[in-house]
Amino acid sequence: MKELSSLPFKYNDLEPYFDEATMKVHHMGHHKAYTDKLNAALEPYPDLQDKDLTTLIYQADKALPEQIRTAVVNNGGGYLNHNFFWSILGKPADVQNEPTGTSIGVVFEDQYGSYREWKDAFAVAATGLFGSGWTWLVGGANGKLEIINTPNQTLPPVNKPVFLGLDLWEHAYYLKYQNRRPEYVNAFYHVINWSAVDKLFKQSGFKPAEKPV
Ligand code: MN
Repeated sequence: MKELSSLPFKYNDLEPYFDEATMKVHHMGHHKAYTDKLNAALEPYPDLQDKDLTTLIYQADKALPEQIRTAVVNNGGGYLNHNFFWSILGKPADVQNEPTGTSIGVVFEDQYGSYREWKDAFAVAATGLFGSGWTWLVGGANGKLEIINTPNQTLPPVNKPVFLGLDLWEHAYYLKYQNRRPEYVNAFYHVINWSAVDKLFKQSGFKPAEKPV
């Protein structure tokens, strides 16, 4: 059985960027529903419950019986993606909430020119995603950071360390921002927990490419 994790902050801590009402329904409504449906799908399969969920999803074709495959991929993906999302959010450090003094902040400067240019690149991907899904910042090949989109509750690519993810389902923003997704993306930058992101970055062992001279 998977448990719905509690948030590492209070529902109103991310105000005014992510509002309390949205955070409550997002966690207690949507995330709980993914968790409950995942548990219901795995309930008749105690042997699968003991296995690593991420691995089961990545190897779904081989590892999961057909009757529950779609349910586990969708709801297990939703369960894991939201666990990750909450872990990289937090009360803004200050008004700007920039990754000043972090290792990943240096890579933004080296690869994108500045944090601001990285933000623009991330926003292009996030606003360009069609329908529901996620935008991720991962460590790619050749020591380059990559910004990628995945549809629905698809997990970020295997074998690439994940540093950041943004939920772009309308349930994440519609109450406050309605159809104004770019405003939601901009609000996200204010509530990124950069110390948590930088910890992931350092722990991943990702080696950024040398800055071109
Ligand atoms: Mn969500």
